[in-house]
Amino acid sequence: MIKKDAHFDYVFVFSLYLIGVLLLFAYGFSRLNSEARERESWVSQQMTDVISEIQHFYEGKLAPSIPITDCDRFLQDSMPLLLSSPYIRSINVAHGGVIVCSSISKQTLKQIKNWNASGKQLELRYVTQTPFSELFPTHRQAILSLHFEKNRFYGMYIALYPESVFRTLGAPRFLQTVMRFENATFYSDGRIVDELNRLPSEQFFSVDSDISTTAFAKYIFYNYGVLLIAWTFIMLMSAKSLVRYLHTFSLDYWRIRKAIKQNQFHPYIQPVVNDCGEVTGGEVLVRWIHPKKGVISPADFIDRVEENGQIVEITSFLMQKCLSAFSKVNLPEARQHFRVGFNVCPIQFDSNSLCQDIENFQSAMADKPISLLIEMTERKEFSSNDKYRKAIHELRSRDVLVALDDFGTGHCSLKYLHDTEIDIIKIDMMYVATIESGNTEILDNIISLARSLDVILLAEGVETQAQFDYLKARNIERYQGYMFGKPLPIDEFIQKYLM
Ligand code: C2E
Ligand code: CA
Ligand code: CA
Repeated sequence: MIKKDAHFDYVFVFSLYLIGVLLLFAYGFSRLNSEARERESWVSQQMTDVISEIQHFYEGKLAPSIPITDCDRFLQDSMPLLLSSPYIRSINVAHGGVIVCSSISKQTLKQIKNWNASGKQLELRYVTQTPFSELFPTHRQAILSLHFEKNRFYGMYIALYPESVFRTLGAPRFLQTVMRFENATFYSDGRIVDELNRLPSEQFFSVDSDISTTAFAKYIFYNYGVLLIAWTFIMLMSAKSLVRYLHTFSLDYWRIRKAIKQNQFHPYIQPVVNDCGEVTGGEVLVRWIHPKKGVISPADFIDRVEENGQIVEITSFLMQKCLSAFSKVNLPEARQHFRVGFNVCPIQFDSNSLCQDIENFQSAMADKPISLLIEMTERKEFSSNDKYRKAIHELRSRDVLVALDDFGTGHCSLKYLHDTEIDIIKIDMMYVATIESGNTEILDNIISLARSLDVILLAEGVETQAQFDYLKARNIERYQGYMFGKPLPIDEFIQKYLM
């Protein structure tokens, strides 16, 4: 069970790590996307501005002066436009497919190839060959012609540099801004790909972005690499404690909660006897009876429920079950007093539940010779000495005997003993087990320490006659162990020992 849970917990922690990475990627992607949108809108705006300037010029200057008779005058008029925009390379007027006036060269009457290629009145086309190509052999031919045709014979050819727009924008580090024209696509890294883009007729161009997977990966690594490494490092370092935390609080928590709701915890009782072997009490030991897994020992879950606090509910449940079982018992008059012991851990004193259950138990047993014993285990330490003293005091003021459980195995036995309000010391079975080997130094010391403190001694885990004899010779008052009886379901216990 523990192994399986740990496996699930590791999967959960790994998923948590992946979620972190995915969130980082998603954030990175949205940042890259918004950067792309910003670049697109900037490029778009630049192009729109220059085209509207040209249109304005066309309507104001060219159209009224057609047919052009004074080329010099026309070029003079167009000079402000030419100089004001870094994207306009030249302004040319054509008549019947022949350049008749050009800002580039006085040498005119040059034939334009693909004259009126698309038949659209206004369009931006990428041309590989311009009438002036031979004047600029080293220039990249990324020139766009803006045709403003007039009467199918006259037109204005404005050569634009889309590359200049990209250059002004600055080189993109991780993404390509893409401008599409009627017959070609321009990438911000300088590539020009011929293709028919089939732009809608009212559109000269369109702008978008090309974010490749490698570009995205580079962007993430460059901008968030440190964060990614830090996250990986943190998760690697904390995986173990996270798994431990989950193991304690999450998966098991819900499983145990369900088990509590479905009444799967049951009280078993193990007899406690005196030196004559007569039953004087019993220790309540919880058993989880799972519908599929059968009986689950407390060793498999008690640590977790003590850590996450569910032990409060479980103990309360056990006490109520014991209460109703013992209520039906009619002990014979001559019978010795019977003491029921419950195991409790320090956190149970933080809530009122234990005191309430003790009160209920005591009032239900008021007319029976059945009383309560609380075994304080050493597994968990009290957060303060004061708290511990108060808890013991509270119990004793309610006429509840207090036993120090598993004596000698924890780190606080002696500290607890200092406050001598303890009634019983339970010698842990590991010391009882030393009897056979003859190595009983600690056991003997525990016994003599207890004698000096005037407490009752109870030996746990007594399994053999030799152990019993050894302990009996040292006047141990109470015994518990398989030799006298194993833990039994409460009804069987009552049937066997109390009827
Ligand atoms: P514990 O309080 O020391 O209880 C004695 C344990 O030793 C019991 O194991 C019992 O079955 C076992 N035992 C008794 N006699 C012998 C013997 O002669 N030989 C051997 N080898 N073992 C013997 P169990 O029932 O598995 O309980 C384990 C521990 O779980 C308990 O140790 C106790 O600390 C804890 N526990 C059990 N029920 C509860 C509970 O309701 N609340 C809390 N807080 N802890 C509980
Ligand atoms: Ca105990
Ligand atoms: Ca014990």
